[in-house]
Amino acid sequence: MHPILRRLLPYCAVWAVSLSILHAAFPFVARAVQASAYTAAFAPVLVIFIISMIDALARGSRAARFQAIGYAPIVVVGGIRLVTGIVPGLYSNDAMLLLYIGCVCEVLFTTLGVADRFVTIKRERDRARDEAELLEKLSETDPLTGLLNRRAIERQFSQLKTEGFAALAVIDIDHFKRINDQNGHSVGDEVLRSVAKALQAGSNIRAYRLGGEEFVLLLRGSDAEHQAELRRQAIPLVVAQTVAGLAQPVTASMGFTNLAGNESFMTLYERADKLLYEAKSAGRNRSANETAQRH
Ligand code: GH3
Ligand code: MG
Ligand code: MG
Repeated sequence: MHPILRRLLPYCAVWAVSLSILHAAFPFVARAVQASAYTAAFAPVLVIFIISMIDALARGSRAARFQAIGYAPIVVVGGIRLVTGIVPGLYSNDAMLLLYIGCVCEVLFTTLGVADRFVTIKRERDRARDEAELLEKLSETDPLTGLLNRRAIERQFSQLKTEGFAALAVIDIDHFKRINDQNGHSVGDEVLRSVAKALQAGSNIRAYRLGGEEFVLLLRGSDAEHQAELRRQAIPLVVAQTVAGLAQPVTASMGFTNLAGNESFMTLYERADKLLYEAKSAGRNRSANETAQRH
């Protein structure tokens, strides 16, 4: 609706109500002309209302369509009253029956309009929610490997703990810089994708790419460590099968640790990372866990 019309409409309402109150309170103040004056005074309301409707319809307002139909009979009543009330020689007609029909029509179509608006709002809300969910999913997914990323772990971690996930493995590709240097960055990317495949996430094992060539597994079950180790050992095989032309096998090192009490992700991760560092120093292509460390 045009801003001027939008601003005028409340004045129309005030004007119409004031006129009616005045006319009801002082019915005989200007006896001879009062009825005609009262009717004529409604003319601007009628005109502004009709222009507003046409304007809103022209702008494509869906709500205006319901209002236009709903108010059409009452607008006609207003027109009949105006013309017959002020044109000399015409017998004043208050079109009462049409007014009653108009009132029913107005209530009916306003109700339909409001219901329609609710449906539209609901649909818009659902679409916004779907979009938000998609964005959240995208923001937690690593585009290269399709694995979840660090943001996802941090959001999911406490929930996963309650679901029994109680072990964490950090797996880091050995000499990945050399793989990139010897074969190019895009082959390096391919290697990352096949490592992600080798990790075989499932209901008891969640796999994440933490960044670079470093992956994290969250595991549950009594054979968690064995499962993590199987995946680490599968890496050279899976990579060799999927990436052609590599000069050396692609191996990985792993730090594995179990959850002790209600630890945070960072605490658990830092412990596993230290173990990973030990596995690297001990010659790579191997795992380190807390038990080994204590011996
Ligand atoms: P280490 O055995 O000690 O782990 O040595 P490294 O070479 O694997 O480790 P380093 O951290 O020195 O190098 C990691 C390399 O990973 C450096 C970086 O260019 C590369 N890298 C990080 N992200 C990506 C990526 O998305 N794609 C590719 N192709 N390379 C990446
Ligand atoms: Mg590395
Ligand atoms: Mg690294």
